[in-house]
Amino acid sequence: MAVTSYAIALGSNRRSRWGSPAETVRAAADALGVERLSRIRRTEALGPAGRGFANAAALLASRLEPPALLAMLKALERDFGRRPGRRWGPRVLDLDILLWSEGAWAGAGLVVPHPAFRVRGFVLEPLAEIAAGWRDPLTGLTMRQLRHRLGAGRPVDPRRPPS
Ligand code: AMP
Repeated sequence: MAVTSYAIALGSNRRSRWGSPAETVRAAADALGVERLSRIRRTEALGPAGRGFANAAALLASRLEPPALLAMLKALERDFGRRPGRRWGPRVLDLDILLWSEGAWAGAGLVVPHPAFRVRGFVLEPLAEIAAGWRDPLTGLTMRQLRHRLGAGRPVDPRRPPS
């Protein structure tokens, strides 16, 4: 396949052998060889016992189709020490596919664009920073527009009918 572009979300809320969650995110971006990395943001933990997350978005060039890229991302999560476990528990590294330059993909447990990215500030903020003009194939809105809507308290969620 020709080279295509992906937007990827990176997150960590546990120290690893690379250091803090932010240092872990940076090390993962280096390992992936991303073309562009957003600022790494800290998101405070929700519960009192939880830990804060480091979140970022990155642009990646790849010849892989989405399922093959996801397999590669899951292998990197494992290399970074992530163990399958509680979905919302501490995680060394979480990698998600947000967008693909070729449009939408659904099948084999994978949905692109990522179904929740439009309503999560910790994903949309860094994504709009590095891909402001990229259009969401489902809504036709750019990342800048989606971020604006979320910031104004009117998130765009194609899974729900507009209120
Ligand atoms: P999690 O470990 O919570 O990040 O969930 C990962 C699982 O969600 C993967 O193994 C996929 O089967 C599924 N999934 C569905 N859509 C996506 C996506 N766009 N990016 C990453 N994982 C996805």
